[in-house]
Amino acid sequence: MATISLRDLTKRWGDFVALKPQSLEVADGEFIVLLGPSGCGKTTTMRMIAGLEEPSGGDILIGGRRVNDDPPKDRDVAMVFQNYGLYPHMTVAENIGYPLKVRGLGRTEREKRVKAAADTVELGPLLARRPRELSGGQRQRVALARAIVRTPQAFLMDEPLSNLDARLRVTMRAEIKHLQQTLGVTTIYVTHDQIEAMTLAHRVAVMSAGEIRQLGTPEDIYDHPADLFVAGFIGSPPMNLIPGTVEGGAFRLPGAAIALDAAPGTVVLGVRPEDTAVTAPGAGDLDGEIYATEMTGESVLVTATIPGGTRVIARTARGFRHPPGTPVGLRLDRARLHLFDKESGKRLAAERVTA
Ligand code: ATP
Repeated sequence: MATISLRDLTKRWGDFVALKPQSLEVADGEFIVLLGPSGCGKTTTMRMIAGLEEPSGGDILIGGRRVNDDPPKDRDVAMVFQNYGLYPHMTVAENIGYPLKVRGLGRTEREKRVKAAADTVELGPLLARRPRELSGGQRQRVALARAIVRTPQAFLMDEPLSNLDARLRVTMRAEIKHLQQTLGVTTIYVTHDQIEAMTLAHRVAVMSAGEIRQLGTPEDIYDHPADLFVAGFIGSPPMNLIPGTVEGGAFRLPGAAIALDAAPGTVVLGVRPEDTAVTAPGAGDLDGEIYATEMTGESVLVTATIPGGTRVIARTARGFRHPPGTPVGLRLDRARLHLFDKESGKRLAAERVTA
C-alpha cells in the first residue's frame, strides 16, 4: 500500500495536449475515481501511472519514490481492465496465479495464495474452468483475483465494469467497494459513469478536456459543483441550469424574479430536480407548462418549459399524472440554489446565494 503523487503530469502527442499539467495527491488506502466524458484524458493518466505510456512532463511518485523511469513490472501496481485481459488457454487458477509465477514463487505458496484470492471474490469452486466457460461477471472476478493475489501497492482499474450488464454492474460495484475497504489498497479507478464514481470513491476527480475540473468527496462535488461543467455532469438527471440575470437583489428571467443576495451580472441559476417542487400555477417561483412526465419507479420526473424556453426537471411524488401542456408552478428550495457566472462558468460564492 502506498501514496501516489502526480506532480505537473502532462501528456502531448505532437501538438495535441491529452493531459495538461495536473497534480494529484492520493493518500495511502484512498479510493480515487477519475470521472469524465470520453476523450478527457482519464485512460492516458492511468497508463502513465502504470508505466504503459511515457509522460511528456512531470513526475509520478508511488510510495514517495519517483517511478517515471521504472518499467511497469517494477511499479508494483495491479491493473484491471475493461476487457479483463485473461489468458484463454489457462484455467482460472492459472490465470490468478500468473503474476506469482512470473515472480518465481514456489508452487505450494502459489496455490495457497490463489485459493485465498479466489475465495475472497467467491470463485473457489470454479478454479479448474477456462475463461470461456465463465460469465462476464465471473471473468471480471478472475481479473480482480489476479490483481489482489500479490497485494500490490496500488490497484489501477480502467472501466472494469463497463462490459457487464446493468444488474451485474451494481453487484460488482459493491464487491469492488467491499474488497477495497477490506484490503485497504490505494486505488485509482477510471470511469465515465457518474453513479459508479459517486458510489465508489472517497474522492472524485472530475475531468474534462485534459484537466481536473474539481477534486472532492462525492458530497462536495454534488453539493458544491465548482463550475457549470461539473454541475451538468453530476446527477441523474443532472442539475437544472437556468440562464438569467441578477439585478436589484433578484434573479430575473422573463416573467419571474427570485429574491437573491448576489452581485448584479449575467448568471446561470442551478437547482437539482430533487430540490424543485411542482406547485399550482402562480404558487411557486416560476411558472411553466408540462413538457413530459416520466415514471422512474420511486418518483416521477416532471419536465416543464419555463418562459425563455428553458426546460426544468422536478422530481415529484409517484402518482403525479398530468398531460403535456398543463400549466404548473415550480418552487425552488432556497437553501439549495447554485449560482454560476455565465461567462466563466465558475461557481459564485455560496454565501451570496442566500435568499
Ligand atoms: P475514454 O473514456 O473514451 O477511454 P479517456 O478519457 O480515457 O476516454 P484517453 O484515452 O485518455 O481518454 O484519451 C485522451 C485523448 O488523447 C483523446 O482525445 C485521444 O484521442 C487522445 N489519444 C489517446 N491516445 C493517443 C495516441 N496514441 N496518439 C494520439 N492521441 C491519442
